Amino acid sequence: MITIVGAGKVGASAAFEILRYRISDVTLIDIAEDLAKGEALDMMQAAPAIEFDGKIRGTNDYSEMEGSELVIVIAGQGRKPGMTRIDLMNNNAKIIRSIVKQVAKHAPDSKLMIVTNPVDIMTYIARKESGLPPNHVFGMGNILDTLRFRSYIAQELNVSRQDVNALVIGEHGDSMVPLVEYASVTGIPITTLLTKQQIDKVVQRTINSGADVIKLKGATIYAPAAVIALMADAVIQGRNRVLSVSTCPSGEYGCSDYSIGVPVVLGKNGVERIIDLKLTPESKQRFEKSITKIKTAVAQLKK
Ligand code: NAD
Repeated sequence: MITIVGAGKVGASAAFEILRYRISDVTLIDIAEDLAKGEALDMMQAAPAIEFDGKIRGTNDYSEMEGSELVIVIAGQGRKPGMTRIDLMNNNAKIIRSIVKQVAKHAPDSKLMIVTNPVDIMTYIARKESGLPPNHVFGMGNILDTLRFRSYIAQELNVSRQDVNALVIGEHGDSMVPLVEYASVTGIPITTLLTKQQIDKVVQRTINSGADVIKLKGATIYAPAAVIALMADAVIQGRNRVLSVSTCPSGEYGCSDYSIGVPVVLGKNGVERIIDLKLTPESKQRFEKSITKIKTAVAQLKK
């Protein structure tokens, strides 16, 4: 079973993706009295049309997460237009601390995926305060950035998005590092297909992509929900997918003690291992800036 804490826009959409792709049963928890119950009922009524048999229940009782293999935390405020992810930090930190306590009490053997923004900081808090094994705690951010990077490369070249492979690491925020040196179209490096000017444009669009959606409709929903389902599938089915998630490296990429997006093998045990890549001097420098940004934010965390 998967528990999703936070049955708002992203939480409810992620639950529906998990059910419709038959990944797992879902328990939805929200503090809003009837929200999770209502969402669960609505999804249950869709089941015959989409032909899924997964069980869905909604509750505001945290003890119902007992027995979960994976708990996904998507509770908290979203980013409003003009607001950075860091602005959200101290409000959402309180929420994450209280939920992580409940996870430690009711589902200590689960894997814990954090989605609430700023995700690298919330994952850092969850890792420090949950008492769960470090590889069981990880955050969702860079896979979404990677999907956006792939989409914009495909658009620029007018080729299928399916054939574009790429990787974004670093903070899930403005200092993210789209790795141009590892982006390819069916194995063909994008540096041989696009000019420097086109690559710069695609990188900038990727960095702005979340803010662009928020400016237009107030929140990002479908893309994060799809990514959450993809990560849930990797863990529940033990698929050992190679994806970029927020985790705390032990010296890889010159980082330890902070949670930041790096490529990992994601499977039954959460982060099975970190893949340490050689970066170009430019990417290395950008990644170092990303670490500094996270360190500065952590220093501003209220106790
Ligand atoms: P939303 O406002 O629609 O939903 C948030 C829900 O959390 C609400 O239903 C609220 O009642 C609930 N909640 C608040 N405190 C709670 C608690 N202590 N226990 C249980 N539930 C609680 O927001 P949303 O658009 O679904 O976004 C949720 C979070 O996900 C935001 O922080 C947003 O920035 C983040 N997000 C992250 C990514 C990413 O890539 N990491 C992408 C999209 C959204």
